[in-house]
Amino acid sequence: MADINPLPGKTFVVEHLDPELEAWSSLEYSAIASECHATGAQFLLSSVPTSLKLPTNLQGAKGLNVETRGIEDIYAAEKDKVCLLDPSASKDLSPEDGDAFDIFLFGGILGDDPPRDRTSELRKKGYQGRRLGPVQMTTDTAVRVTRIVVQGRIPVDEVPYLDHPELKINNNESTQMPFRYVKGEDGRPIMPEGMVDLIIKDSAKGLDDLL
Ligand code: SAM
Repeated sequence: MADINPLPGKTFVVEHLDPELEAWSSLEYSAIASECHATGAQFLLSSVPTSLKLPTNLQGAKGLNVETRGIEDIYAAEKDKVCLLDPSASKDLSPEDGDAFDIFLFGGILGDDPPRDRTSELRKKGYQGRRLGPVQMTTDTAVRVTRIVVQGRIPVDEVPYLDHPELKINNNESTQMPFRYVKGEDGRPIMPEGMVDLIIKDSAKGLDDLL
């Protein structure tokens, strides 16, 4: 789904909450950077440890701004303009939130099943929170949906989704993803470039370990 009428000045911040930056996260961050770049939005990857060497696919990536400081230091004076996308928030994100907030904050956390609520690390900081519906999304999906809602002005329950899609690993095996994705024009879940190959590789490794 195309983003329409981008509002100038929206910033999407992913606060990196893991000590490492694994291959899965690097593909997600690269997808967020290129989509934000293409739709006139800013993407900031915050709280990146100084000791962390960025994976090659992120070095010099268009649309990626890296910050070692955390959200509280960067936007100390604009706290009321920050909206935390929080699976436990009591209110869903609405297109009008695009008028109320300038900065949309996400947890840079790998999805887990069952969810461990690591978004609570950001909730504790006291930002206003909004939910993107009841199903856990990957971080890049959460950013994509937020852009569609606040830039495309489409209500969150009208975005086309695919929940828990099955990915074929080989002729005999498939794996079910425990997340909600945006449905692409080809009817398939929108995922970062390279993600399907990575999932297949990781699943094959997992199967090998079981043998
Ligand atoms: N299992 C997780 C946890 O520990 O909180 C969810 C992490 S999710 C993979 C990464 C980020 O995407 C979350 O921190 C949140 O900002 C955003 N997110 C994912 N699904 C969401 C939803 N349904 N509503 C609001 N935000 C969501």
